Order: sequence, then C-alpha cells, then structure tokens
Amino acid sequence: MAAMSTVNWKMDAPTNISIADAYKMSADIAETSWQLRWDCDSKGRHTYELIAEVSTKILWPRRQEVAVAYCRILLHDTMLNADAFRTGVAESSICACGTDNETVEHVLFRCAIHGDCRTQPMDVVDDIWISATAKNFVHSKAHILIAPNFSGFVTKHENCTLKEVLFQFLATIERKM
Ligand SMILES: [Zn+2]
Repeated sequence: MAAMSTVNWKMDAPTNISIADAYKMSADIAETSWQLRWDCDSKGRHTYELIAEVSTKILWPRRQEVAVAYCRILLHDTMLNADAFRTGVAESSICACGTDNETVEHVLFRCAIHGDCRTQPMDVVDDIWISATAKNFVHSKAHILIAPNFSGFVTKHENCTLKEVLFQFLATIERKM
C-alpha cells in the first residue's frame, strides 16, 4: 500500500519570470486581495449589491453632471430626500409629490413629477427585465437599470441600452441627484 504523501501547498517559483509575468502576478494578487476585503467589509453594502466584483467595468455617461448623478446613485448617497433624510440633512424622506419616499426607484419609475422624462425607451427596460427574470434574475427593475452588468443576466448590448435610457433620464430630469 502506498504511503500517503504530505500535501505541500508551497509552489516552486519559476526560475525565469518576465517583467510582464511579474506585473500580471502582482495585479492578480492585488485584485484578489481587494476582492477579499470588498467581500468581507461591513461598509458600502448598498454599492456591493450593485457592484459585487471589483473588476467590474462600469459604463459612464459623457456629461459630467450625469456622471456625478450616476456615481451618487451607485454610492447610495444622492441628494434625494430618502438619502438626505437618512444622513440627517433633510427633515423628511417624502417626495415633493407627497405619495412616497423620494428614493431612486421612486424617481425612476413612479414619481408623477418626472412623468414627462420617462419617454418611450422605458418600455425597453421592462422587456429586458422580464427577459432577465425568466433567467432567474432576482433583483428589482431598478437594480438592472442601475447596476453595471456583472451577472450575465443581460447581454452587453442590453446593458448599453439600459444605461442609455438611465443616462437620458438623468440628463432630462430637473431634480438634482
Ligand atoms: Zn414623487
């Protein structure tokens, strides 16, 4: 009977490593370490729900003010009443329309004040969301519209369409995000 060998977790380093290999190994280690910290951290969990993988590529709009608004949405730190009330800079979380808390989701999909900004392409969001849920996508319609595409539930092209709709809406809306 063969004796069990002791598992050796150490790996021999190759004798010759190119500069490119060294950069690649260094980048891989840094990304793995960053991912581990992001997975285990207790802060930024709203952003984590939207961007779980640190290597996620994010589509940004060309217009700076729209990019700032999108960044605030990703960081859960908008100027909308729901966020402002949570951080202590607004007296109420209720929207000016009076029907609900002024959350990102409310502004994007339900608030009557911004009805004119929801142009025809919003139907596209419904179609892509329904298609994604058929593939077991479990998040909200707002999530698929806002989050960078890392889950594979939408195609690259669909994600571009979703972000075009979102950025167009953010560019048109009069409420500062
Ligand atoms: Zn409203």
